[in-house]
Amino acid sequence: MDCIFCKIVKGELPAKKVYEDEHVVAFHDINPVAPVHVLAIPKKHIASLLDIQPEDKELIGHLHLSLQKVAAEMGVQESGFRVITNTGQHGQQTVFHIHYHLIGGRQLEWKM
Ligand code: IMP
Repeated sequence: MDCIFCKIVKGELPAKKVYEDEHVVAFHDINPVAPVHVLAIPKKHIASLLDIQPEDKELIGHLHLSLQKVAAEMGVQESGFRVITNTGQHGQQTVFHIHYHLIGGRQLEWKM
C-alpha cells in the first residue's frame, strides 16, 4: 500500500517522533501551522474517521490517551491546544491514513 504514514510507521520514511508505543506514533507535522503541530496516528492503517470500525474502539481510545501524553511532552497541557481530524473533501483531508493534528503553542482562533 502506498501510504506515506504507513511508511513512517515502518521506518521507511523519516519523521521527528515525539511519542511511540505498540499501537500509536506521533511526529512533528512537516508543514507546521503553529509552534506545536504534531500528528498522532494509529499504526494500523485506517483511511479516515469514517473507516473506524467497532473493533477499533479500544485503539481509538488509546490514541486519545496518547494525545494527552503528546500534549504533556510538548508542554501545552496547561496552556491548551486543539485536536483536529480532517475528513474527506470538505474537511480537506490530504493523507488517507487517519491522523489527529495536535496544534498549540500560541493563542488559536476559531474562524472558518
Ligand atoms: P490533512 O490535510 O489533514 O490530511 O493533513 C495531512 C498533514 O500531513 C499535513 O498537515 C501535512 O503537512 C502533513 N504531512 C504530509 N507528509 C508528511 C510527512 O512526511 N511528515 C510529516 N507530516 C507530513
